[in-house]
Amino acid sequence: MSIESLHAELTALLGPRGASIELRAREKASVDGAKMSPIITELLPLGLADIVAFPTSAEQIAEVVAAAVRHGVAITPRGKGTGNYGQGIPLEGGLVLDMSKARAIVEVGDGVITAEAGAPMVALEQAARETGQELWMYPSTAQSSIGGFLAGGSGGTGSIEHGANHQGFVAALDVVHASPEARLVHVEGDEAQGYVHNYGTAGIIARATVRLDPVRDWQALYASFENYHDALAVLRDLGDLDPIPRLISADPPEISNTLPMDAAIPADRASLRAILDLSSIAAARDIIEAGGGRVDDVRKGPQACVKLSTLSYNHPIEWLQKSAPGGYFHLEVGGDALVDRIDEVHAVYRGGMLHIEGQRQKFIGMLAGIYESPEQVYAGIEALRELGVGVHSPHQWFVDFEVERTRELAASTDPLGLLNPGKLVTELVAPGAGKLT
Ligand SMILES: Cc1cc2nc3c(=O)[nH]c(=O)nc-3n(C[C@H](O)[C@H](O)[C@H](O)COP(=O)(O)OP(=O)(O)OC[C@H]3O[C@@H](n4cnc5c(N)ncnc54)[C@H](O)[C@@H]3O)c2cc1C
Repeated sequence: MSIESLHAELTALLGPRGASIELRAREKASVDGAKMSPIITELLPLGLADIVAFPTSAEQIAEVVAAAVRHGVAITPRGKGTGNYGQGIPLEGGLVLDMSKARAIVEVGDGVITAEAGAPMVALEQAARETGQELWMYPSTAQSSIGGFLAGGSGGTGSIEHGANHQGFVAALDVVHASPEARLVHVEGDEAQGYVHNYGTAGIIARATVRLDPVRDWQALYASFENYHDALAVLRDLGDLDPIPRLISADPPEISNTLPMDAAIPADRASLRAILDLSSIAAARDIIEAGGGRVDDVRKGPQACVKLSTLSYNHPIEWLQKSAPGGYFHLEVGGDALVDRIDEVHAVYRGGMLHIEGQRQKFIGMLAGIYESPEQVYAGIEALRELGVGVHSPHQWFVDFEVERTRELAASTDPLGLLNPGKLVTELVAPGAGKLT
């Protein structure tokens, strides 16, 4: 049987602990952050790995992929497993390629850092800082892997200045195609972009080189306002500060109240949190106070900033969901209407609440509402679009970014469709899939 013989081959290659067919290991490798979607939660479990492999280097990643291809076994790549919405679930079973042990920082150069796929983003940031540099960006799941962030994520702290992870962050990749021979393929520039944000369906990222900036003296600023309107009203001015902020997040009091207890996030007030350069703290304070808010704390140092990052993007929604298990769903939303028409946006769903990320001249966020049914969620998407809100539904696991480009690339890099099968489909069937429009 192919799994048994693959297990024997992988054990010979990686050692007895390098591959597992134990149920517990297979179950652990078959879940991701999909539980953030009540729609997907109703469909779980969506798949179970037959075998899990734990390569410890980029070269071993290539060897494992080649072995699986020779055995005709499907391969679902995995970093830290924090990705949302089922993209990391092995829908057709087969091999889960857990790369969390291939985590070497290979080299820190001038403006770039190279690391193996499983290296945590915080480790890259730390290594960069030791040379007076810092990552262009990292996600709020700062412990997640560079391979998983590039293949599954989109942006985070640093994205106000540098945009999404497919907008120049990646300088080069060593990728592995679904080939029976173990080979690392080096791609750079535009060619490397073809492997970003498509869940490993066109190739597995074994090693990545991403961009760095000179380090700044970042401070973690916590402010609060009596109401959410006032907090939203200062976001544009804060976003225009020079140097450009690394992060600006804001929550209404109902979400702030569910965040971890912190004197700088006072109860029943709208919370605004930002990572700002020391030289712009005074200007930020002026903007916040002129807008009726107050600065509750300014914390120094990289750790304080990473901590603040872990309260951005999907995290406030996760805290809200923890406060009322099974109660809330969310949608990814964008556009000026989030600020200019917030009451109407909140009114689309019962219990509607927006977590917002301030960007330069634009806004993105996560709109939560009380969950009733998939139909109720999808019906609201149209109402939001009529308000001028861009919407992306996260309640699906399909590649919905540069789909055509990925299909063309995968036709040659994965002719048998063994890489993360079930994610690259010919027609997008899920409502709200596609760009944030
Ligand atoms: C509470 C919460 C907050 C989040 N905040 C953010 C955020 O701020 N920004 C953001 O972008 N994302 C965010 N995410 C999504 C996710 O955590 C990040 O994108 C994270 O960087 C994914 O990394 P990972 O190592 O956990 O990847 P995994 O979850 O292991 O994998 C993610 C996807 O990439 C594929 N994959 C993994 N490794 C590789 C590889 N080496 N080569 C090819 N394909 C691979 C997997 O099959 C899967 O489809 C958040 C998720 C949660 C639950």
